[in-house]
Formats: sequence, structure tokens, C-alpha cells
Amino acid sequence: MTTIEDQIEILVTWQALELEVGVTERQIAARMEEITVLDQAAAERESLVSAEKEALSALKKAYRELEAESKINLAMIAKSNEKLRSVKTNKEYQSILKEIEETEKKNSDIEDRMLEQLELIESQEGAITTKAAQLTSFVGNCQEKKQAAEEEIQQARQTVAALKEKVEQTRAEAAPQTIATLDRVRETVRGMAVVPAQGETCMGCHMNIPAQLFNELRRYDEIRFCPHCRRIIYWKEKENA
Ligand SMILES: [Zn+2]
Repeated sequence: MTTIEDQIEILVTWQALELEVGVTERQIAARMEEITVLDQAAAERESLVSAEKEALSALKKAYRELEAESKINLAMIAKSNEKLRSVKTNKEYQSILKEIEETEKKNSDIEDRMLEQLELIESQEGAITTKAAQLTSFVGNCQEKKQAAEEEIQQARQTVAALKEKVEQTRAEAAPQTIATLDRVRETVRGMAVVPAQGETCMGCHMNIPAQLFNELRRYDEIRFCPHCRRIIYWKEKENA
């Protein structure tokens, strides 16, 4: 048969373990959040580079279209030059010459646009090369950070499992009645369920407790509660700072 003092000690140990479980679980959640943020950042940058690549494809497509148009024009010019040799009338000759001139003018514009397009393609390719290299190093950096976070999570999960085992062991050490009382209190209070009373003050709600109750606490003859916050309280010598 353990004493009330022992029971309180078990509860205090249990509570410290529970707090540690909470802290560790919050660490896990924070690390997982970090991983999500890293993934999002990498995905965002990847989609930016993809968009740049799509823009480059569009430029190349436009260039190929101009090129095709230019080929058709050149073929037309060649054909017209061919025709010139067999024309019978001056009028026809002039008309074909005019046609050739117009097509040449059109094609010269197209060639100018092709040159512009080529310059754009070149600069876009340069930008993509730079951004792709930046992306690779950024993703690598993210991977490293993620790996470190994942390792920490794995370790923290092991810690939580070990702590939870200790929590169960500690609960098993307490009298069933004590556990029943504890669980009832936990349902009604937020945060700590077991708190010391120091210098006639409940350390849970920081209200003064009656002097008589404070004296009773020192006897450790039963589990007592703060009259204000209903937490389990126990006597603890005032620490001199
Ligand atoms: Zn209280």
C-alpha cells in the first residue's frame, strides 16, 4: 500500500511525462509543417521554370512558322523567276516582276521577324539555363533540409513511443482510485491537472487557498483539490530563489 505522498509523486511524474509527450508531438508537427513548406517552395519554383520553358517552346514554334512561311515565299519567288523566262508580253512581264517584288518585300519582313525571334529564343534559353541551375541547387537544399527534418521526426516518434510506454507504466503504479480521480480532473481542467501549492497559493490558478487546507495538505492523508480551479493540489515547500 503506497502512501498519498507516493501517489502524488506518481501523478507528478506522470504529468511531467505527459508534458514531454506534448512538447515532442508539437516538435513533430512543426517539422512536418516545415517539410510541407519546403515542398511547396520547391513546387512553386519548379512551376516557374516550367512556365519559362513553355514560353520558350512558344517562341520556337512561332519561329518555325515564320520559317515555313519564308520557304513558301522563296519557292514562289523561284517559280515566278522561272515564269519570267517564258512570258510573251511586256505587261505580263511587269506583272510578274511586281509580284516578285511584293513577295520579296513580304519575305524580308518575315526574315526580320525571324531574327528578332532568334534573339528572344537565345535570351530565353540563357534565362532558363540560369533558373534551372538555381532550381537544382534550391531543390537539393530543400532535400537536405527535408531529410534532416524527417530524421528528427523519426527520432521524435521513437521518443514519443518510449514516453507513452513510461506514461502507461507510471499510471499502472498508481492506485486505480487515484487514476480515476486524475482522469476526472483532467476532463474539467485545461493544462496541468496536478499542481503544487506554495505559500498558500495554488500554482495552477494562482489564487490563495485557505490556511486550513494548506495545513491539511502537509499531512498527505488524502488527495485534495484547489477550491478555485478544482485541480489536484499538493504541498510543496516554497522554493527560495
Ligand atoms: Zn487552483
